[in-house]
Amino acid sequence: MNISFSPPFIDQNVIDEVVDTLESRWITSGPKVKALEAEMMELTGSKASVCVNSWTSGAIMMLKWFGIKAGDEVIIPAYSYCATALCVLHCGAKPVMVDISDDLTIDPAEIRKAINHQTKAIITVDIAGLPCDYQAINTLLKQPEIQEQFIPASEKQRALGRILLLADAAHSIGARYGGKSAALASDITIYSFHAVKNITTAEGGCICLNLPEQFNHEAEYGFLKVFALNGQNKDAYAKSRGANWKYDILYQGLKINMPDICAAIGLAQIRQYKDLLLPSRKHIALKYCHHFNAYSWFTAPALKDNSRESSYHIFPLRIKGISEEQRDQIIDQLVGLGIVVNVHFIPMPMLSYFKETGYRMEDYPNSYKQYACEISLPIYPQLSIEEVDYIIESVISTVQLHLGISPLKTTA
Ligand SMILES: *Cc1c(COP(=O)(O)O)cnc(C)c1O
Repeated sequence: MNISFSPPFIDQNVIDEVVDTLESRWITSGPKVKALEAEMMELTGSKASVCVNSWTSGAIMMLKWFGIKAGDEVIIPAYSYCATALCVLHCGAKPVMVDISDDLTIDPAEIRKAINHQTKAIITVDIAGLPCDYQAINTLLKQPEIQEQFIPASEKQRALGRILLLADAAHSIGARYGGKSAALASDITIYSFHAVKNITTAEGGCICLNLPEQFNHEAEYGFLKVFALNGQNKDAYAKSRGANWKYDILYQGLKINMPDICAAIGLAQIRQYKDLLLPSRKHIALKYCHHFNAYSWFTAPALKDNSRESSYHIFPLRIKGISEEQRDQIIDQLVGLGIVVNVHFIPMPMLSYFKETGYRMEDYPNSYKQYACEISLPIYPQLSIEEVDYIIESVISTVQLHLGISPLKTTA
């Protein structure tokens, strides 16, 4: 068999929607982006949503929106994709990395230790699709001794009056927290529509706003749409309608708008998300757990508990007691059997750039521990039952052989 890791979901609906865009002769930002933004508000329950050309660019824009600059600190987990740190660096501020809990999400106790007068924001990462402990984090941010440390230095910082909570929801579209959409648990939630994510637009992202009531969401939406288009007050679509050529530049914006040709892909997918795409991922995750639970080397990922439910974006298989080298060997063997797997994530302090700028892996022991025994298995709607069964058999036999246990099932 030949099983890829995370191919995009492209069915006839996607193709039809893209062809419709091409035939309309309007391919950049226009009605499809608007329609995708409306779908995102519906799915996430957010008060406003702005589509952009990546998670990364959206995060840069929102940190700039909040007035983050040199001298500021933003707390992030060490265990994430590099973009979580790079967006902070692009604003001239310092990413302060902290360690994670055993469920792979940022540890609220570590956040508390890292907060000081320079802290302006926290970026939480819903790793693998599992929402962070938002109850603990929101409670922390509202504590008087934490609020007293906050020194507002921009109009938005004064309006919010506390540290901003921005969720990196690149993995967690459709995840639930406290019986509601997980997007409602933070001030700003940013999704990625990169080609490997649960919903894709090839490249893209979406910013969802759930700011407190002192913010006017319609006005913020209007501002962000202009800011995402070089600060230009009329987009090409508006200019194309009649004698509407005159425009103005209002801010030093970014050029990060999403084109309609990309939005069309995501639009066709999001319409099938709740009823087809998300349930089929969940089904595979539960099947993996059901089979692996019989083995003592298996550490089950947190998928659902009393307060939260994952979006089942990644299936992080963790094998108890193995070293990083053993993990790498198991991966080689699985690849040899035709199964492409991955590791989420190489903690940022292990990557050259972050190492050279002073981050040390020893400071994040749990991030290393989790990374060293983790293998992300294929999980996507197009996987057939035979392929899932083959992955399960291959993982069990490979791991058992590796650990020197009989490849046969250990329970009756
Ligand atoms: C994919 C990913 C990103 C970056 O998304 P882009 O849309 O490629 O910019 C950020 N954070 C995490 C955790 C990711 O997995």
